[in-house]
Amino acid sequence: MTRFAPSPTGHLHLGHAHSALFAFRAARRTGGRFLLRIEDIDPVRCRPEFAAGIAEDLAWLGLDWEEPVRRQSDHFADYRAALDRLAEAGLLYPCFCTRAEIQAEIARAGHAPHGPDGPVYPGRCRSLPPAERALRIAAGQPFALRLAVDEAARRAGPLTWHDRVRGRQTARPDLFGDVVLARKDTPASYHLAVTVDDALQGVTLVTRGEDLFAATHLHRLLQAALGLPTPDYHHHRLLTDDAGRRLAKRDRALTLRALREAGRSAEEVRALAGFQGSELRLRNG
Ligand code: GLU
Repeated sequence: MTRFAPSPTGHLHLGHAHSALFAFRAARRTGGRFLLRIEDIDPVRCRPEFAAGIAEDLAWLGLDWEEPVRRQSDHFADYRAALDRLAEAGLLYPCFCTRAEIQAEIARAGHAPHGPDGPVYPGRCRSLPPAERALRIAAGQPFALRLAVDEAARRAGPLTWHDRVRGRQTARPDLFGDVVLARKDTPASYHLAVTVDDALQGVTLVTRGEDLFAATHLHRLLQAALGLPTPDYHHHRLLTDDAGRRLAKRDRALTLRALREAGRSAEEVRALAGFQGSELRLRNG
């Protein structure tokens, strides 16, 4: 089972089409199932009209997927349950640092390792005494929940996963440092929600762009800490524009709707995204 898991923060462009068709073809080739998942945990950036647009664009492209479509914003209880498990295992801690405080601490230290998601958290709140944590929470100080990555990795022991392009990988979750898994305004981070969902939905092959390759190091650790199965991974190439830059929201002319409105057929757009209809075994194609 594969999935395409876009965030509804804008309209799909050719790069998304490549990713969706890639996952779809991988399922079709093996007689497997294909899911669409809407990753809308960030209430500030995600909009329902973009989610509706995604379904419309994918259907126009010739794809079909299993219903019901999972929308992450409907499942905060699942992410909460995962956080509770990590907390019970002693692998989560509240972090009261503001962004400015973290930056100041990094500046004081003179350097900070840079992880896949940005500077690695220096760990200021990791060793706060329990009584102080309780006092601050009782006083209503806002906090984020961070994963104690070193401790989780120590308990899990060496972890590997299989990438279909690069082969067997040894997980390096330490590259991230203690990541935030939840905040007041975003009750689950991308890393937590995606790991929980792929397991809950029974996804056996995660296909996604190379830009998310490093994230898998951390997802593998979360799987171990939560006792979840590890799927296979295939991180695929990213489509680029004529200047070699990866496609992004600024490339408005390359959204599927702009291409459709400009008179391109679904078949032409599939070809632009790197796929021929015949290899996709489309229902109507
Ligand atoms: N929602 C993520 C994105 O739009 C992709 C998640 C994934 O495939 O793991 O970039």
